[in-house]
Amino acid sequence: MIAKWRCLPFLLAFLVILSCVKSGLGATDIWVSHIAFQDGWKTGLSLYYSGPETSASFNLTRFDDSGNPLEAPAMLDAANNTWTELPDSSLAYNGSARIQSEHSLLVKVSYRYEGSRSLCEFYLTAETRQEWILPNTVLPWLDWTGIALVNPHDVPATLIFEAWKHGVKAAVQSTILEGGSRYVNMSEAIWSSLAYRDFDTAIIRASVPIPAPICITGDYLQERHVFFTAQPKPQNDRALCLINGTLIDGTGREPVSDSVVVISEGKILASGRRGDVAIPEQSEILDVKGGTILPGFVNVHVHNAFKESSLRAWAQQGVTTVRDVGAAEPPSSAFAFRDSVRSNPFCARLVAAGPLVTVPGGYPIVPNNFPALAVTSPEDAGRKTQDLIGQGADLIKISLEAGLGLPTLTRQEVQSIVEAAHGRRVPVAAHATTSGFFRLALEAGVDDAAHSAVDYLPDEVIERMVQAGMYLIPTLTAQRKAGETLRNLRRFVSAGGKVALGNDGGYLAGLEVGMPIAEIEAMQEAGMSPMQIIVAATRNAAEVCRLDGELGTIEFGKRADILVVTGNPLENPRALLDISSVIHGGVVIR
Ligand SMILES: [Zn+2]
Repeated sequence: MIAKWRCLPFLLAFLVILSCVKSGLGATDIWVSHIAFQDGWKTGLSLYYSGPETSASFNLTRFDDSGNPLEAPAMLDAANNTWTELPDSSLAYNGSARIQSEHSLLVKVSYRYEGSRSLCEFYLTAETRQEWILPNTVLPWLDWTGIALVNPHDVPATLIFEAWKHGVKAAVQSTILEGGSRYVNMSEAIWSSLAYRDFDTAIIRASVPIPAPICITGDYLQERHVFFTAQPKPQNDRALCLINGTLIDGTGREPVSDSVVVISEGKILASGRRGDVAIPEQSEILDVKGGTILPGFVNVHVHNAFKESSLRAWAQQGVTTVRDVGAAEPPSSAFAFRDSVRSNPFCARLVAAGPLVTVPGGYPIVPNNFPALAVTSPEDAGRKTQDLIGQGADLIKISLEAGLGLPTLTRQEVQSIVEAAHGRRVPVAAHATTSGFFRLALEAGVDDAAHSAVDYLPDEVIERMVQAGMYLIPTLTAQRKAGETLRNLRRFVSAGGKVALGNDGGYLAGLEVGMPIAEIEAMQEAGMSPMQIIVAATRNAAEVCRLDGELGTIEFGKRADILVVTGNPLENPRALLDISSVIHGGVVIR
């Protein structure tokens, strides 16, 4: 965690310093200053007006790095309710811009990294508030998080930071921000005492109104950075409200009957019992007529997911995220495909390992004739792991299989892979089907077991898996409930082990590409309650994907990935097949 902080103050100074000053009622005077770019980054400045006029005029002045105007101030127009890109704003330059208007405007600064990942934009506003709420403060694949604030007043401001996780306050800290200061990184004051996965929402309260905080998160090893603020996007759409349903929010909490779920801009704005949740005026109402509202399901063990038809099939059945743990495709095309479908709500979101990592002649290359990445030594394993992550792997999947006399990864090779992956905050999943390899995976620090052991899993291994928080993904149907698989699952759950849903769909014939109901019924047969299975398919599966800051539960700030069924899956899981609606990223896709 130490390295997490080292570069943040530097990065802040290097990349962007902003100031926003409100210069009069309804008027805007926004400075975007000291924009500096790393190689490979491009930027754009766009402006948004929403108000009573058909358009708003604004005055744009750009300055060079030394503060000299690049040209005479230009009067320009922005159409109402439309993003207007500022001229030449795609130009990467080191300089500033000043935007003045009689109207209240919102300015979007977007960065684009010319790599496989590109997501980074933030919003500037002249608005000041005493309270800012920053949902999704942490993105799962990122390394650190920082929050920058400015106090435009002459007097010092007292600030209170709250860190929240799953709707529970995890930490509180107060600090003083001197007056007249530029944006400074305020985050270490609180975040340094917390692991980066210990919170998902930040609330900042100030003694005086302050401009929107800027969150900066990134992975400095991979030079990926994301900036965003608490300022919501302009409300182009009406809120969507689900009413008249029983809410099972994915956390394992008791169901809430007669619930309301409010969705706005693709995210959960509020959820709870009717009467406790305000329904925004002019909302679109979706009456679920006594059905059950659940988070979109996440299947963390699938294959052959690099096909739009499969991703559509999953999404239509309410499985809005899938994790592919072994691709036959070359990693570059697999990851490019993953990124290309990210914005299509009709496709399940794809989390991808790329190829399985094994040894020459090992599983699954030899018995299954399935392409995989072969490593020949611990050094080679570490290097190839780094390379795979550099290409965009969300996780590393290793093969531990010695049946049929196959060669497999050595303990040193597994350790080298885990070390390399964890150094980049990327999890490792292991194919293992016998207790000996469960033990090896556990001792090497593997994050999840992608199958069940068919032989008796010793109590001591179960206990250590529980202590380590190592996930079990049973794939009971793929293993035909063989040997001890059902009993091992029952014992693992009674010991307090964490289970996530995965069925190996897309690989063996007969395993559903859609709602994996056979797997769900097998989990029930092993003794899991319907509520435990739902949590395994939502919150736990999101955690396995490192997406729990973003999805997996129906809570404030999470992505609106929602499955609505007509019956009650707590009475009978087969109710999960009677789907009345699917919402993905706030878009009703069924
Ligand atoms: Zn598999």
